[in-house]
Amino acid sequence: MTSHSPALRTLDMYIDGQWVKPASGQYFETVDPFTAQPWAIVARGGAADADRAVRAAHRAFKGPWGKMHPSERGKIIHRLGTLIEEHADLLAEIEVRDNGRLLAEMQHQIRYIPKWYYYYAGLADKIEGVVHPCDKPALSYSRPEPLGVCVAIVPWNAPLLLLSLKAAPALAAGNTLVLKPAEHTSATALKLMELVEAAGFPPGVINVVTGFGKEVGEPLVTHPLTRHVGFTGSTATGAHLYSLAAKDVKRVSLELGGKSPNIVFDDADLDNAVRGVVGGIFGATGQTCIAGSRLLVQRRVHDEFVEKLAAFTRTARVGDPRDVRTQVGPIANKMQFEKVLGYVDIARQDGAELLIGGKRPDGDECARGFFVEPTIFTGVNNGMRIAREEVFGPILSTLVFDDADEAVAIANDSEFGLAAGVWTRDMKLALRLSDQLEAGSVWVNTYRDISYTTPFGGYKKSGIGRENGAEGIREYLQTKAVWLSTADEIANPFVIG
Ligand code: NAD
Repeated sequence: MTSHSPALRTLDMYIDGQWVKPASGQYFETVDPFTAQPWAIVARGGAADADRAVRAAHRAFKGPWGKMHPSERGKIIHRLGTLIEEHADLLAEIEVRDNGRLLAEMQHQIRYIPKWYYYYAGLADKIEGVVHPCDKPALSYSRPEPLGVCVAIVPWNAPLLLLSLKAAPALAAGNTLVLKPAEHTSATALKLMELVEAAGFPPGVINVVTGFGKEVGEPLVTHPLTRHVGFTGSTATGAHLYSLAAKDVKRVSLELGGKSPNIVFDDADLDNAVRGVVGGIFGATGQTCIAGSRLLVQRRVHDEFVEKLAAFTRTARVGDPRDVRTQVGPIANKMQFEKVLGYVDIARQDGAELLIGGKRPDGDECARGFFVEPTIFTGVNNGMRIAREEVFGPILSTLVFDDADEAVAIANDSEFGLAAGVWTRDMKLALRLSDQLEAGSVWVNTYRDISYTTPFGGYKKSGIGRENGAEGIREYLQTKAVWLSTADEIANPFVIG
């Protein structure tokens, strides 16, 4: 077994209402992206742990949770929301230590997360069936039922939020859960389990296994008792899990990558557009699926807009994510840091012009952590790798267009279709583009708005299924039709007609 410093905290898994050690006895280090130093060791789960967790979730589904009245389930889910609200600052601190996001941003985000639990708690006892106008001598009705054990696998950029987008509707629909956070950011999911216990969830309703995708994630997906796989992460991993789930015809919802266009027309309020574009790409240090990483600017205002954009971007204070003055934090882990810098080289080799950024910032504060300056390339064309591939970091590619048709053609010329932004004062143009853009979310004169009330998901390789809103809970339900005969006599089956 690898030895770790005794000073590091040990994080065990949570299965069947208990804190458990991994069957292998192995742990791995989780690193603070600001200091680049480990701060805790995390259980390295494997197939045996996945099996234990799925079985516990299955028992809870067949037992107390499945038998509980939906109103009671709703009450417990609501209580969890309240507890998250009460512990938001602590959860935010843990999240920052694991993924390097800004403390202020995480506090804001975690205070918003309870809304998902409140919203879906309210829906829990409003999942109603339908009586059908039947053309046979029968009463036929259908009702939505839960699926059973749902597996939720999430990435590191917003662990608690992305997990809650799945947990709240899945639980409200009456399912039980096994959560697998990313190997880089397991701590908040585990902390959440203390709140799950306090909220009164019966053992096994929510379980957390930790570790690496291949080792513990895949056994969760392929487990015969798993009924639904909810995945947020890269398109490559999502496609792989989709194929594994297909073997047993399991339901999936996939929230995948993006290369979203942010389109600025020459009549737009350019100062607002600058803010929207900067927030869209440098918020969360570019590590959001909806990052507006392709900026399309109409030719007449291109130079003026890019100048304003560069000037505003240069004001960003990059540094310690715990300092309230900081506006851009580090990249969440070393591998991603190296990948982002690699894309700077790729863009240059492909002929893009580096306008600002492109390296680790100078100065002591950013010397150790995984920092990359907010980076803007101009002169990008849509065939370059920097315009086609998801970087998942603070790199903006700027392209030029002449008219709306060209803007739509460039925007849609992508394998992704997660989101798009349109900046214009012309509302007819905005509506026309909203129709034409191949994206699950279109923002007009705003960017990156997400709410528990509004469906979110991807077109094309950006995903399958929708999270949030009333549509979100349907991912976790299946319909059963029931027929009750009202005939006095059953017709002779050998006489047709
Ligand atoms: P990733 O696909 O590498 O990993 C995501 C999760 O999948 C992690 O928990 C990882 O351990 C697990 N995983 C990896 N391989 C696995 C396997 N073989 N079997 C089972 N599980 C496996 O993604 P990432 O690099 O952690 O996250 C960044 C990606 O997530 C980006 O592509 C981003 O766009 C995407 N993302 C999408 C959304 C959305 O809602 N569409 C939101 C956030 C992030």
